[in-house]
Amino acid sequence: MSGEEGGDPPGRAASGLFRRLRAVAAAALGLLECRCQCCGAAASPAPGALPLCARCLNALAPRSGGFCPVCGALHADESQAPHRCAACRADPPPWDRLAFWGRYAAPLTGLIHAYKYASALHRSGLLEALAHGAYLRLEGLAPELPRPDLVVPVPLHPRRLRARGFNQSLELARGLARLAGLPLAAQALSRTRHTVPQARLERAQRLTNLRGAFRADSALTAGRRVLLVDDVSATGATLRECATALRRAGASGVDVVVLARAG
Ligand SMILES: [Zn+2]
Ligand SMILES: [Zn+2]
Repeated sequence: MSGEEGGDPPGRAASGLFRRLRAVAAAALGLLECRCQCCGAAASPAPGALPLCARCLNALAPRSGGFCPVCGALHADESQAPHRCAACRADPPPWDRLAFWGRYAAPLTGLIHAYKYASALHRSGLLEALAHGAYLRLEGLAPELPRPDLVVPVPLHPRRLRARGFNQSLELARGLARLAGLPLAAQALSRTRHTVPQARLERAQRLTNLRGAFRADSALTAGRRVLLVDDVSATGATLRECATALRRAGASGVDVVVLARAG
């Protein structure tokens, strides 16, 4: 600051400094004032907190208990510590841990739906933060397991990618990889064939619709622990097929992060 203001008389220098301080203060206030990324109301979240108003922060609180740490199945009593469900005790899925942010219910449903079908990418910051929050809970589910080596999104078939314009799982995975400091391997999984959207099928059909529909690239995944990312888990059929393909390609282990668990 000495260079350009060195020749100013004391009064002018002081007013210049005042203008600068005022600009800095305004910029800082601008950073603090923001809109809730869920409902759009004015919000002033604490530094580092989710960009939400107090009401939405409460409505979007993560599920803290009453679920299976392996498949995310929801138990009736939310106050229970996480524990394995009967299905996972009898026949565990092809991954080790699944972490999710919350139940697939409002307002999380609305956020995910808008993101997926209306390309509401302005919400990506919030959803990426929720995915990262879920990721941070993975370790608590099985602390003895190592940290994932790379982040892999559930792929869309190229035909659907063209129709929608973007893959919401890839966008989530990209944000999560950045926040978690892990490498992203966007091409590690691919679709081998076009399939009917799972949402249009009955439960029994969902389980067979995707069989053999994914292929993993062993050059990227062999010997690595993969963090598989998707937006929602319902029957788990998609994740099951993806994890099976990754294991076949030599992945040393698979963990899963989803935003929401339906059921
Ligand atoms: Zn709000
Ligand atoms: Zn389970």
